[in-house]
Amino acid sequence: MQAISYDAYGVVPSLVEIDDPVCPDDGVLIEVRATGVCRSDWHAWQGHDPVTLPQIPGHEFAGVVAAIGPNVKTCAIGDRVTAPFVCGCGRCSWCVSGEAQICPQQLQPGFTMPGSFAELVAIPAADFNIVHLPDALDFVAAASLGCRFATAFRAVTVHGRVQPDEWVAVYGCGGVGLSAVMVASALGARVIAVDRSAAALRLAHEFGAEVILEAGDDTTPTVLEITDGGASVSLDAVGSTATAVASIASLRPRGRHVQVGLLLGEDAAPALPMGQVIARELEIYGSHGMAARDYPNMLTLVASGALQPARLVGDVIGLEGAPAALVALSAPGHGQGVTVIRMPPVRRI
Ligand SMILES: [Zn+2]
Ligand SMILES: [Zn+2]
Repeated sequence: MQAISYDAYGVVPSLVEIDDPVCPDDGVLIEVRATGVCRSDWHAWQGHDPVTLPQIPGHEFAGVVAAIGPNVKTCAIGDRVTAPFVCGCGRCSWCVSGEAQICPQQLQPGFTMPGSFAELVAIPAADFNIVHLPDALDFVAAASLGCRFATAFRAVTVHGRVQPDEWVAVYGCGGVGLSAVMVASALGARVIAVDRSAAALRLAHEFGAEVILEAGDDTTPTVLEITDGGASVSLDAVGSTATAVASIASLRPRGRHVQVGLLLGEDAAPALPMGQVIARELEIYGSHGMAARDYPNMLTLVASGALQPARLVGDVIGLEGAPAALVALSAPGHGQGVTVIRMPPVRRI
């Protein structure tokens, strides 16, 4: 099959012809029809988050079941499917209780096993991890659900517990931040979106943000003023010490901070204002994707039109364009939405 692969960190990946993956006994092979280009792929390729080498990037995808292991009961050849970027083992106590996003034996395509920038991707424990797609959801839109949108959905609904008319601050309006803006707005919250990019802020406004703020020194005081004492929920969708601290400082008493952006390198252990956390009784959560169990709630809102992940999609490219799309993430700034690789039906279905 054709795949995008890199042998060493930072070396531009190339389109290669390699053997098809082997279908796991409890898993499926999915013929990839669309797969998103995510900043996590870029971090892995840059070596910020060590992965198995060589590696095929890609962890947010949608496609068609092309092969089924003998132990799989819930999938058929030709099913239109996706899977969370954290694939649970399906057997441990966390998985059994529905919390596969923190499974200790988790596997992640593009990081700990070959990813979806390829004609085929193997997904283990298919009965547990595979999510069937509604007919109305096309592959390109579905690909944007697997990582950023699902992570934002869980951050806003489960950790943030956002209620109508509550103020929600979103720091960073890349793919996951814009997803959070859309989800919180759909739930009736009043959203303040913060970013350095005017283009990203325009998109945030289109997706429902009531207030857009250019990031700067006076951002937090402005948020406190607009919200008359602080937001009920604030998300750091960037992943930096500065934005994590600003997010916490934007909260009213009993507010909820959700750390969505990955904190890596010199930001891996940020000094957070724990004095404020105590004095205001703030809640702090990390968000690490969303298990397959929780997809139906999100897909119901997508099917009803309340959530429109297709609006997050920016450039749609071919597999051969993936290396350049990863390289483009090295440049600062964003605001063009989510880049998705679309792949034609190849040969199997
Ligand atoms: Zn991702
Ligand atoms: Zn597990």
